[in-house]
Amino acid sequence: MTPEEETVRNSSSTEVQDEYWEKKLEMEKKGKKLFKQQIFLDWCKGCGICVAFCPRKVYEMDEMGSPVIVRPDDCIGCRFCELHCPDFAITIIKRYPDRRRRKSDGS
Ligand code: SF4
Ligand code: SF4
Repeated sequence: MTPEEETVRNSSSTEVQDEYWEKKLEMEKKGKKLFKQQIFLDWCKGCGICVAFCPRKVYEMDEMGSPVIVRPDDCIGCRFCELHCPDFAITIIKRYPDRRRRKSDGS
């Protein structure tokens, strides 16, 4: 890798880190938790349950009959979609997990 490529790589990774912390701190100030939705389309049969029952309308069906994530920041992490998907095709994870553990956690 040339020094120029190394600089570009480092600056883009710094930008990603800055974006991560900016968003995390902004959400902490608002007291809001963010969640990430992962849909494994290979397993999805396009039944539409996740689209129909998500209380925050996070998903919409595309023209191919597959769910797409359109409002990821509106997710409240209720995991209804994950628990009711008949094909186990959805996973909900915390977007900014606090990696530091408190001593009182006993770990
Ligand atoms: S509930 Fe599961 S199988 Fe049905 S559309 Fe959503 S992801 Fe696909
Ligand atoms: S966890 Fe709840 S709010 Fe988030 S996408 Fe699934 S059903 Fe919607």
